[in-house]
Amino acid sequence: MTHADFHKEKMHDFYYKNGELYCEKVPLSKMIKKLGTPIYVYSYRTFTGHLAKLQKAFRSVRPLICYSVKANSNLAVLRTLVKKGAGLDIVSGGELFRAKKIHCQGKKIVYAGVGKTEEEIREAIKARILLFNVESIPELEQINAIAKKMRKRVNVSLRINPNVDPHTHDYITTGKSENKFGIDFESAKTIFVGSKRFSHAQVCGVHVHIGSQIETGDPFVEAFQKILEFIDELEVEEGIRIKYLNLGGGLGAIYSDENPQTADAFAKRILPLFKKRKCQLIFEPGRFIAANSGILLMKAIYVKKTAVKNFAIVDAGMNDFIRPAFYNAYHHLWPLKKRENAPQWVYDVVGPVCESGDFFAKDRELQEIKGGDYLAIMTTGAYGFSMASNYNSRRRACEVMVKGNTFKVIRKRETYQDLIRGEKASA
Ligand SMILES: *Cc1c(COP(=O)(O)O)cnc(C)c1O
Repeated sequence: MTHADFHKEKMHDFYYKNGELYCEKVPLSKMIKKLGTPIYVYSYRTFTGHLAKLQKAFRSVRPLICYSVKANSNLAVLRTLVKKGAGLDIVSGGELFRAKKIHCQGKKIVYAGVGKTEEEIREAIKARILLFNVESIPELEQINAIAKKMRKRVNVSLRINPNVDPHTHDYITTGKSENKFGIDFESAKTIFVGSKRFSHAQVCGVHVHIGSQIETGDPFVEAFQKILEFIDELEVEEGIRIKYLNLGGGLGAIYSDENPQTADAFAKRILPLFKKRKCQLIFEPGRFIAANSGILLMKAIYVKKTAVKNFAIVDAGMNDFIRPAFYNAYHHLWPLKKRENAPQWVYDVVGPVCESGDFFAKDRELQEIKGGDYLAIMTTGAYGFSMASNYNSRRRACEVMVKGNTFKVIRKRETYQDLIRGEKASA
């Protein structure tokens, strides 16, 4: 597929009209007037559109698409996607709590993570989730013991670490032997063969998730082929049938000039592998659905010129959006208002947090920025607000969902009182 083909697919609903930035039909200057900055703005249409693309591309195999909650866990986002037919992929008791809040059915929830606690396991059993994605033998023993105590039977998938390099950032690589995730093939086989000893945990699925922001089909194909060989071996040699095959997430989004596969291209590439397979396929997309469904609006407070740099200092910081600091991630910066014939200058766009890692762009050529101008960091719908913190005692931003010509605050901007909730001054 060529770059041009890719761009035929509409990527998101943020665009300029008469030099003004819009989300769907809302001019964002109007939102800023009402709410101030920083604001995370999400497009309902983009969110649901990406889910629909995946559903359509894979409709021939009717997969369960479990949106990965950690990418963007706002209740309104979860509810929107679940209403459109998604299930949820969770990684903690807190995410299970969110899933229950929006009434996601247990049978559409899968639960991964290397460190599930006793309490988290109990809650998940109570919620009758579809599958635990188990990452170690001690975890499986723990789940079995808890289920036994509760007199419940649970379904378990083994998360396999196929030792495949997804060619992405080290911090979001999860499918190589040195990563903490999953179980190697040999140990997994031993577990399957001896699985009768787990009286209350039915080991009936295989799970694989090799990393995030994977831009080509090759690492997926390599991992899935290994997994399928493993499944065939189990069936032929041991007579073990796999009921659920969870292929994880990891599909890339466009941040600058990447050219990741579309849902259709991905489906065309991998569906042939799964022809004539009877198991239920599961996907866990996070970034693919959420990343370009959101932007972060912020205001330039000062422009500081030094001998070597122009710093645009903005009112959002690394506590609001950590990807540049954490992964050295590139994100486009768009002005709220395009000025005709504005000069271009080179800027470091930095936040107010007391860390040199607190930047959104370095040496970036941008339309001239003046104090009081507004900017948008693009493609911040995934791993944006969900990774935000209160570092430097900064209140977390508000989140807003745009739907057509209306918008709604789906999380209020935090107050100073929120910052000290639960604290005591007397030691
Ligand atoms: C984070 C995660 C995902 C989602 O990854 P994306 O790259 O956002 O699609 C899916 N499955 C598991 C187990 C994860 O930990």
